[in-house]
Amino acid sequence: MTAPVSTQPGPRNWLCQAAGAAAPPGGGEPRIAGSVGAIYRGRFAPSPTGPLHAGSLVAALASWLDARAHQGRWLLRIEDVDTPRCQPGAGQLIAEQLAACGLLPDEPPVCQSGRGALYQKALDQLVQGGMAYPCGCTRQAVAQALAASGQCRQRHGELVYPGTCRQGLKGRPARAWRFRTDKNEQKWLDVQAQQPSSAIDLIAHHARHASGDLQAQLVWQDRRLGPQGQDVCRDVGDFVLRRADGLWAYQLAVVVDDAAQGITHVVRGADLADNTARQILLQQALSLPTPRYLHTPLVRGANGDKLSKQHGAPPLDLHDPLQALNPAARLLGLPRQTGLAADALAAWVNAWRDTMPPDGPLSAPGARSLAIRSDAPTA
Ligand SMILES: [Zn+2]
Repeated sequence: MTAPVSTQPGPRNWLCQAAGAAAPPGGGEPRIAGSVGAIYRGRFAPSPTGPLHAGSLVAALASWLDARAHQGRWLLRIEDVDTPRCQPGAGQLIAEQLAACGLLPDEPPVCQSGRGALYQKALDQLVQGGMAYPCGCTRQAVAQALAASGQCRQRHGELVYPGTCRQGLKGRPARAWRFRTDKNEQKWLDVQAQQPSSAIDLIAHHARHASGDLQAQLVWQDRRLGPQGQDVCRDVGDFVLRRADGLWAYQLAVVVDDAAQGITHVVRGADLADNTARQILLQQALSLPTPRYLHTPLVRGANGDKLSKQHGAPPLDLHDPLQALNPAARLLGLPRQTGLAADALAAWVNAWRDTMPPDGPLSAPGARSLAIRSDAPTA
């Protein structure tokens, strides 16, 4: 006699899945995410660098509410590729904290640390297409190359890579792998120019600088923030896909996993909005669909900085879940609730539908295949 098995995914039967867990819901043929009639699939994707705090709860609640308001599915993905920064047991703790708030994923959670084969496959695809290349530069070499060219380009305190190794390693050993932004940004702009009324509201903007350089602005639509733009080649440079220490970079892992999990809507904190243009370029280069994006307001600490684990945000006291959920809901423009957390969540789903109306039928260029997903290893 076998014991009854609970079909309710929750923290008790939580287990990080191997890459095969990314199979489409219900099995069968892989489905192109974002195609007409597709089922909404959202996710909350925290890094397990510590327990959930008031800031990360806002993104978790918003992504859960948006999925429920769309009658969609909500997934939990533990983004533990940056292993030196991860805290043992934090992923499990986050799942338990979410469950205490009534935010239960519809499928078993997935951990990025077990999915290196998928990321390697994507990198191989990019390299074969001439869209990624090995880089042998140290930080010092990047600084010297910038100085020699008379530039001092920085972004968030990081030097903007000048593309030194685009023409080859010239005898140096490969350290990292980088994404070729110049080619890919131009390719993206060409594609958008041919599809001016793309259903994902992506618009290409060209403008000529006083210097005569052609500026290629990748513009994307955020459901809360409106149009956002970035010239990735100029402002970010050829970004890293695989780091010199062998770890997978955030951008590649996120893009591969969003596609492999069939994510149609990304709802996350506004601090991550700046990554979106890079991720759209990667999606395009890998022939993957682009989800819709919504970036939620950030919780600020007493000093005005974004509340984060790194800056000592206190863990949530979930003895009374509503005490934690109410401030998160207030930041999202939702009314205060009393009583049971389950009733509060139900009321907020209705309120969310009113304040954040459904964003029209899901659709995306049908020509985009889901190469990574359909070839996902099964073990
Ligand atoms: Zn280099």
